[in-house]
Amino acid sequence: MEKYDLRVADIFSSIDGEVNGWGQGRFTTFLRLAGCNLKCKYCDTADTQKYDSHKHETLTVFTVIDRIKRYHCRNITITGGEPLLQITPLAELCKILCEDKKLFSFGRPARINIETNGTIFPSGAERLTETDLIRFTVDYKIGENFHPLWYKYLTEKDFLKIVICDKDDFFKADKFLSMYEETLYNDNRQMIPVALSIRMNEGPNDLSGAVEVMTTWARADNPNSSLIFLSDLSKWSLNFQIHKLINLK
Ligand code: SF4
Repeated sequence: MEKYDLRVADIFSSIDGEVNGWGQGRFTTFLRLAGCNLKCKYCDTADTQKYDSHKHETLTVFTVIDRIKRYHCRNITITGGEPLLQITPLAELCKILCEDKKLFSFGRPARINIETNGTIFPSGAERLTETDLIRFTVDYKIGENFHPLWYKYLTEKDFLKIVICDKDDFFKADKFLSMYEETLYNDNRQMIPVALSIRMNEGPNDLSGAVEVMTTWARADNPNSSLIFLSDLSKWSLNFQIHKLINLK
């Protein structure tokens, strides 16, 4: 494997059905990288957790760009696995995508959304934060380490997403967010947009968890609602995986 090779699980076209700094529901080309440092119990891309030479490919940065170009779309979401594990070729890929104005129509560069679990911030990742063409979605996993450098580098153009599997996760998320807010406000920085991400592991018919959350939320003045114990409802928004509602990848 060469320095600028990427371990790739998939390149495909779909809509970006999750919240992100560019807007939810955009037509997007996805680059899914193989290899992750976590093993979340609800992982819906478990086959990307570990690089497997039978299922995945090792491609040069230029081959990846050629494949991305085939979809004629400057919206690109780089996900995994955990993409930042491959920071050297990833940074090179992003540099070319952001600088080469001939790659997409009308001479416009790519708009990139990088999804990360937020547990790592490898050396070189700060370079990715230097351009407005790259935005981050930190998909924070409750109970996992949140790398402190994300406090420094996330901006109001990025997104913090917190995966919720059950009611208990609300309270853990609320606690995490209170600490997070305190850090940002002490630093005089704006709050990063935050979304609760409701798991729909069983696909489009599995809306029960999300419906429960929404109805409980909408009735937060109900004295029986456990949500009234949350510190501040106004800081939350809700993330649906809308691609799953229409059976897209
Ligand atoms: S961080 Fe993402 S890809 Fe990795 S195990 Fe968790 S859900 Fe799966």
